[in-house]
Amino acid sequence: MKIGIVGAGIAGLALGNALVQRGVDVEIFERSARVRAGGSGITLAPNGLAALDALGLGERFRALQEQQLPLRGGLKDPRGTWLSRIPAEVTTQSLAISRAKLHGLLRDGLPDARLHTGVEVLGADPETGEIELASGETRDFDLVVGADGINSNVRGSCFDDPGTRYAGYNAWRAIGPKIDGLEFGSETWGTKARFGVVPLQDGSTYWFAVKTGPESRAGEKCSDELKSTFNHWHYPIPQLIAATPEQDIQFLPIRELASPLPSYTNGRVVLVGDAAHAMTPNLGQGACQGLEDVAVLADLLGGAGDGTVDDTLDLALYDQQRVKRSQRIARQSRLVGDVAHTGGHRVAWLRNRVLQATPDALTERQTKRVTDWR
Ligand SMILES: Cc1cc2nc3c(=O)[nH]c(=O)nc-3n(C[C@H](O)[C@H](O)[C@H](O)COP(=O)(O)OP(=O)(O)OC[C@H]3O[C@@H](n4cnc5c(N)ncnc54)[C@H](O)[C@@H]3O)c2cc1C
Repeated sequence: MKIGIVGAGIAGLALGNALVQRGVDVEIFERSARVRAGGSGITLAPNGLAALDALGLGERFRALQEQQLPLRGGLKDPRGTWLSRIPAEVTTQSLAISRAKLHGLLRDGLPDARLHTGVEVLGADPETGEIELASGETRDFDLVVGADGINSNVRGSCFDDPGTRYAGYNAWRAIGPKIDGLEFGSETWGTKARFGVVPLQDGSTYWFAVKTGPESRAGEKCSDELKSTFNHWHYPIPQLIAATPEQDIQFLPIRELASPLPSYTNGRVVLVGDAAHAMTPNLGQGACQGLEDVAVLADLLGGAGDGTVDDTLDLALYDQQRVKRSQRIARQSRLVGDVAHTGGHRVAWLRNRVLQATPDALTERQTKRVTDWR
């Protein structure tokens, strides 16, 4: 069986790599001239790492995890008072890593001949498995995997595409310098704005800022707004913004799939990652869910381990394992965003007091429902 993967992001690279290791005939098509990761960081929660283990790619990530400072984290208010803690069991089992390094590790071991960069795919045919390239050529596969992200052409051509919607907030993100004395990863919730700080495995500091407002264009900088919003927040937020070169800060509107897809498969086409269920980043689960998709699909496709794919391959099993869970997490993530960006000063103050009074056991149960997998 010949498999074509559209997109070499986190999901496409992970699937391609795992299938190559299992001897499956696979080709990856990536629109960009090279595999690009953007300059920021990302957190892989325990379920994301478990999926990498299942794919046979976990070892290289576990090695990094062992080198990182024991991550601890939770929510703070803008003065720096802790509101709630994420259970240590979860944070110590997570990996905070630069996206460039993550992409590099997923790319490692993937033969050049399997990866076609600078090739844009316009769409696929679910009946025949043919994909159409922007160059006008076509290629035939037994199965096409759409791993082409939130604005997926594969989804647009093979599914009843709901499109995307703006979540109501824009984000800045960057990797800044090492911050002395930074022991914790934390997210701080103010009024219609929040700021996250995560020490990365290599000693640098990944940060993100999110603010309610009209949708901006990706690539705008809005540095004045960034500085004025977070100027009086607790250490090290203003210091981190000031220490990060402006050209290293990315600005992007947060969008998600406008409504959930009833199925991630259609004939010879299957969707993984953001193409299937682009979600808000409030739970830090988008990539983790993509990796879970890929682990399930790789098991179905390459379970035999000898390069053969069972002709009776039943993609309904993929839907059974992936649709409900990924969409529940997307809903929860949206809800967290709604709560984080709710109301004016009084409402935000009250929300923070409720968070402070919430028993740790409840937070722990909610967190583990998301990050436990298999
Ligand atoms: C601010 C922010 C913070 C986040 N933090 C986290 C976090 O901490 N943890 C977490 O798990 N997730 C996080 N996420 C979500 C995560 O970044 C995404 O879910 C993940 O990157 C999606 O990976 P993907 O491979 O599905 O899609 P993408 O990364 O979008 O990759 C798609 C690839 O397909 C290529 N492509 C697109 N169209 C075509 C085409 N027509 N032809 C060929 N190639 C094409 C693109 O160039 C790209 O390389 C965050 C997201 C944001 C916005």
